[in-house]
Amino acid sequence: MKTIGLLGGMSWESTVTYYRAINEGVKRELGGLHSAKIALFSVDFAPIEQLQHAGDWARTAVILGAAARSVEAAGADCLVICTNTMHKVAADIEGAIQIPLLHIADATADVLRRDGIQTVGLLGTAFTMEQNFYKGRLADKYGLKVLIPGEKDRGTVQEAIYNELCVGRTTAAAKPDYLRIIDELAGRGAQAIIRGCTEIGMLVNHGDTDVRLYDTTLIHAEKAVAFAMQ
Ligand code: GLU
Repeated sequence: MKTIGLLGGMSWESTVTYYRAINEGVKRELGGLHSAKIALFSVDFAPIEQLQHAGDWARTAVILGAAARSVEAAGADCLVICTNTMHKVAADIEGAIQIPLLHIADATADVLRRDGIQTVGLLGTAFTMEQNFYKGRLADKYGLKVLIPGEKDRGTVQEAIYNELCVGRTTAAAKPDYLRIIDELAGRGAQAIIRGCTEIGMLVNHGDTDVRLYDTTLIHAEKAVAFAMQ
């Protein structure tokens, strides 16, 4: 079994989900007392979030590049960045290490294409929904049509992520808004919705809506399990 490298803490709430999902995947594959070999570097999210909002992505790349090198030095055979948003600097992080990076958008696109999805709605941070590093990759590399909510709704989605989900507050106050936004995207032609923020699964799940949901955390974790089993 290969060792999975995790770059986590963004937020730690969703890193917990990665840790659990990867271990459950390895247990499913190997049974018994087997568990995943994981090297985890969990960063302090507060300074990262400040740099995001200040637009200083170059500094985040330096911090995360150094963390990724630590993961590699700890014996990881691959790197999983446990957040969609910070894939904005994925190329810089990849350049800091020799081990392969398992890109969250590639893992997600593979599953969408396998299921015949061509038009998809994207929920995530404003950075993920609005900038090209994520939806551009889905469109250019995989031919997916990506729909995002309108401006006001993007603000609602973003606010719940940083003010509630990333601080572990799941009051479900934001849930009706998320479900309305999901329905609206489906009404515009989305065949499915990408939960493109690793914490959204804490709020909205299968059973809450008839619209098909794809969870990037679980898809990414499954990709890591498949890599470890190779
Ligand atoms: N975990 C989130 C994501 O998947 C948001 C936190 C962050 O900005 O990294 O995008």
